[in-house]
Amino acid sequence: MRLLILAFPLALSSLWAQQPLATLPYAPSLDVQSMDRSVQPCENFYRYACGTWIRNNPIPADQPRWDVYGKLTYENQLYLWGLLLQAGKTDAARTPNQQKIGDLFYACMNEPAVEAAGAKPIEPILRQIDALKSRAGLPRFLAEQHLTLYASSMLFSFGSSQDYANSSAVIAFADAGGLGLPDRDYYTKTDPKSIEIRQKYVAHVAQMFQLLGDSAETAAANAATAMRIETALAKASLTRVEERDPYNLFHRMTPAELQKLTPSFRWNVYFKAVGTPPARQINVTQPAFYRALETQIQTDSLADLKTYLRWHVIHAKARFLSSPFVQADFEFFSHYLRGVPAMQPRWKRCVQLVDHNLGEALGQVFVEKTFSAETKARALAMTKEIEAAMQSEIETLPWMSPATKQQALLKLHGVTNKIGYPDRWRDYSSVKIARDDFLGDIDRAVDFESHRELNKIGKPVDRTEWGISPPTVNAYYDPQMNDINFPAGVLQPPLFDPKMDDAPNYGNTGGTIGHELTHGFDDEGRQFDAKGNLRDWWTKTDAAEFQKRADCVRDEYSQFTVVGDIKINGKLTMGEDVADLGGELLAYIAWKAVNKGKNLPVIDGFTPDQRFFIGMAQWACGSERPENLRANAIADPHSPDEYRINGVVSNMPQFQNAFSCRLGQPMVREKACKVW
Ligand SMILES: [Zn+2]
Repeated sequence: MRLLILAFPLALSSLWAQQPLATLPYAPSLDVQSMDRSVQPCENFYRYACGTWIRNNPIPADQPRWDVYGKLTYENQLYLWGLLLQAGKTDAARTPNQQKIGDLFYACMNEPAVEAAGAKPIEPILRQIDALKSRAGLPRFLAEQHLTLYASSMLFSFGSSQDYANSSAVIAFADAGGLGLPDRDYYTKTDPKSIEIRQKYVAHVAQMFQLLGDSAETAAANAATAMRIETALAKASLTRVEERDPYNLFHRMTPAELQKLTPSFRWNVYFKAVGTPPARQINVTQPAFYRALETQIQTDSLADLKTYLRWHVIHAKARFLSSPFVQADFEFFSHYLRGVPAMQPRWKRCVQLVDHNLGEALGQVFVEKTFSAETKARALAMTKEIEAAMQSEIETLPWMSPATKQQALLKLHGVTNKIGYPDRWRDYSSVKIARDDFLGDIDRAVDFESHRELNKIGKPVDRTEWGISPPTVNAYYDPQMNDINFPAGVLQPPLFDPKMDDAPNYGNTGGTIGHELTHGFDDEGRQFDAKGNLRDWWTKTDAAEFQKRADCVRDEYSQFTVVGDIKINGKLTMGEDVADLGGELLAYIAWKAVNKGKNLPVIDGFTPDQRFFIGMAQWACGSERPENLRANAIADPHSPDEYRINGVVSNMPQFQNAFSCRLGQPMVREKACKVW
């Protein structure tokens, strides 16, 4: 992914005068007004290209970071807000999709009803927990919760995915999970800040128990219990870096083998309740985690397990309840953990909720109004040019043997380019959405999505499927699908600008296309073949040569400071850094090839090459709160924006020529890294 999208809790107050937009605003893909020419390009290219943008665009009070992607996302939300208000009007004829997105938005915006309901919507689940008589009741209870819990996993998570060894088959996946903090590292790190975070977290959990009616003393004891169980699960979970190796996550088992791993949990009851077809194969991604889970189920008292379950119900649903719950959830997870001063206004949260739950219904309306066939054709043509650039790069790589090159080219030619929106829209006809039943709507939408995922087990893979909605301002590569996905939301100005010439467009969106393509060949992606199977197609020598070059990138980025005494974890960000570097080079080669023989003009005093690089840097203009930088250093595989630009250009002689940079200046590396 080019950018990490984060989910944030509900907002109640309006921050500034915000109005739904009838049309999307325009900003060019290269804006000389955004630059800071008092900075030397060879000293700090990011500040040179983005300095004025950063000064003119302070982080809004409800955001943990603010950048070009974030601003475009926000403008999209303003536009979607208008579409949803329109779709929520009952006096006009509506399509079934408009009824669903309009009424879900209406129900979400009905704040008085949500406030009046208080914690009532979760009371039936809490009563079910109370009624659990023994551990034997867990499989059935968890199955029901896993089907309807929103963005949360209780004890573990269960779903479906492509078989790593056979990408045309979908099998069941039993994954690790069960934590409340964003990553297992929060439970294990011993520095003073991590200890403080854990103390604040336990206080937050206690506060939530108090909101459910526990006394202060009971709430504190209950929070300690939940923390103890989560810590045991966290310690048995793989780190983010370990998870980057897909072989660490691949342990196919029969149901009988899984049963043997966790004797205290009756899987046949769980499978039946969750409604999966009889699974012959389950990928138990982290067997050590399930051994720890077995220990917890066996050794914890039923009362303690019930306490843990209560916490996770309230944690998963807090953002949909009345304001005390929403406020407490915001205070810890956004304000404290990410430094965000104010909650997002309710309209924004509700737009995100509709996009998250009925994304293709909303997306269909969005695409009809904003995405032209011409934009799609131009983006597709650019993608093919960048793929051609990658082909010529692979063919001439000095360090790779002909045998591995042949496999790499097969993989490159196997990539599916998905541009704009899915060929076949998701059918939401079975999801009932009512204007007066907010929590019920969410349950039904999440239940629909859970069953949609589980029903894939044992069926052929649908290769037309998308993992993000069309309005999303982001893009991704999927190694098992071997496809790149560019939704309509990301193919808009200032990222992709039909009014601009090629130079900044190739630097910006061309670089993103190259980035996603390079993910197929980064430390993780390179382990999958043309069909998306986890299979080693590298000779030993070629793999070692790759590793040497990837390690160069890792070592370089590991020296960059994120915030305070925290450096980039170069092993975590390796794939993104390799993709940033390779992607920009591919975009440059493609741009040169397309404009070969043309005499491109100097514009605003900048040469075509200079404009390519300024356009490239300006996708990343932005800033971030220190708390958010700290949180992302643990869990986000992307480097901070400034290094995503300066890290790339300081390794590119093409950039250094464009701006006449000399050895000894910060944007010139003595030993440049190059993988692809
Ligand atoms: Zn990426």
